[in-house]
Amino acid sequence: MLEGYIQEIFSSFQGEGTSVEGSCYGLRQIFLRFSGCPIAQGIHGTKGCIWCDSPLAWNSNPEKCLVEIQAGKQSFEEKNNPLTSKEVLDIVKRLETKDLHSISLTGGEPLYQPEFLEEVIQRLKENDYQIFLETAYTNNLEFLKKIANKIDFACVDIKDKSANASSQWEILVKEEIQMCEILKVAGTKIFAKCVITSSTKKEDFEIIAKLCGEIDIPLVVQLVTPKMDSEITQPSWGQIQEFTGIAAKYLSSDKTGISVQMHKFINIL
Ligand code: SF4
Repeated sequence: MLEGYIQEIFSSFQGEGTSVEGSCYGLRQIFLRFSGCPIAQGIHGTKGCIWCDSPLAWNSNPEKCLVEIQAGKQSFEEKNNPLTSKEVLDIVKRLETKDLHSISLTGGEPLYQPEFLEEVIQRLKENDYQIFLETAYTNNLEFLKKIANKIDFACVDIKDKSANASSQWEILVKEEIQMCEILKVAGTKIFAKCVITSSTKKEDFEIIAKLCGEIDIPLVVQLVTPKMDSEITQPSWGQIQEFTGIAAKYLSSDKTGISVQMHKFINIL
């Protein structure tokens, strides 16, 4: 049995997305936050997205995994890492609630530990759980092809240039679009999300919107959540309308919309 590193496991509600197909916005999920992020480790020449809200998950080998003691209580116990896929399944079963919709595989980057992830997915599917994959990047497209037909829902985080996720930004975007295509072909209900800030440039966002339009996948315009100690600010209402207008040039009205991180506004996990 394989073992892997997980940052935290908890039950909450999906706070991102909107009404587009593939989104699980507002639905109850158990979140498996996998450790490690190739973008933060410099695979694309930078040191992580400037607005990253889960930098603790950059550590690919944390000693401890935080596990919610009871669904919704928001208090945690520590488990020693690495965990086996069986231990992960047991925790999921313990946190299951009647309204559970799906299991969110998030991070860090869940595709960073492929063999372990595959075994976790296998166990979850054997127990009839639906899978929601939230991914930003993998260079292992063959692995993604191998598991794609087991993923029910997916969000691919397409990085705006101002996120500073890559020193060769257009190459990164094209690779992320390839990930979207692989998932779509496999039958996953998939959407793309792009986090925008007041620094996002219209011409950069247009590149992303056009590529999403070419493969006809929904594109959610997600407004960055500003951090207390950072200069990153939300786009103005005028900018938001410019970006949604650009998306609407390439996608039908049911395939684009705006999103904020709802969980941050109501102060839940
Ligand atoms: S890819 Fe995700 S986890 Fe990695 S730095 Fe960017 S936002 Fe953070």
